[in-house]
Amino acid sequence: MLSVRFWGTRGSIPVPGQDTIFFGGNTSCLEIRADDRLMIVDLGTGVKPLGDWLMDNDFKKRPIDTDIFLTHTHWDHIMGLPMFAPLFISTTKLRIRGPVSYEEDTLESIIGAQLSYRFWPVRQSDLSAHIEYGQLKETTLDLGGGVKVITKYLSHPILCLGYRFEYQGKSIVTAYDHEPFRNLFPSKPGDRNYDEDTAREGDAAAREENEKVINFFKNADVLVHDTQYTEAEYQAGKKGWGHSSYERAIENAEKAAVKHLVFFHHDPNRNDTALTQLEWDYRDQINRTYNTTGDNRLELTMAREGLTITA
Ligand SMILES: [Zn+2]
Ligand SMILES: [Zn+2]
Repeated sequence: MLSVRFWGTRGSIPVPGQDTIFFGGNTSCLEIRADDRLMIVDLGTGVKPLGDWLMDNDFKKRPIDTDIFLTHTHWDHIMGLPMFAPLFISTTKLRIRGPVSYEEDTLESIIGAQLSYRFWPVRQSDLSAHIEYGQLKETTLDLGGGVKVITKYLSHPILCLGYRFEYQGKSIVTAYDHEPFRNLFPSKPGDRNYDEDTAREGDAAAREENEKVINFFKNADVLVHDTQYTEAEYQAGKKGWGHSSYERAIENAEKAAVKHLVFFHHDPNRNDTALTQLEWDYRDQINRTYNTTGDNRLELTMAREGLTITA
């Protein structure tokens, strides 16, 4: 059985408090299970409650031994690591993998920088756990036991990977932080430095990249997609920030024949009332476009902390 449990659903910064209690205030952290095998995507602040839960459950049966996949190294996706309780147990084995943008950087130096006296009282060298770091590019990993992980570059200001977990014919895909690829050259005849050929090439390149993303999502049972903005917000000054709209996520999921789309990386300014309303609105909207007896109906869910979805 392949499943995902959400420990942190928020983008950018943790937002604890009364207004975010239902969907949660922790930043990005997913627990993926392929039967007994544990994998973690991202080390946002959600990894703190996940670590505590693992100590009370998995650790009672066996040492913690897990693969951690980082989508990228932005702050909200790594800031929870220093409070991950299994770090302080000598039998813990962590394989932390993810992309780095600059060749001279290593994942260990970026992640480890948080565990230096400048930022934190415990240094990386003081941790008991055995940690291995590995740089990831676009690739397919065979983790053994029938678990396959495929990675895909997304569109974000720094290198960022989407992950596709496959196990026993089921698939769960993550696609955040991500915005649609677009033509970065002047594209209108009136624009400064406009060149017709360059504009056409830019359009074609963006279209091709977006098609690759759809292929990566193809027939996924569960797609966890960036939806920081509504389309109106995105168009009104959020282009280039590296995040998608709900509308674009739905469009991508439909094109790729995804079964269950999960809205993720919630804007920190969006409270529970606003997220509930958006979930209802978008469900309403797609229900109107489907025959309710149809088999291929796309299921929509707003990610919330504690929710488990089985592929
Ligand atoms: Zn983020
Ligand atoms: Zn980011």
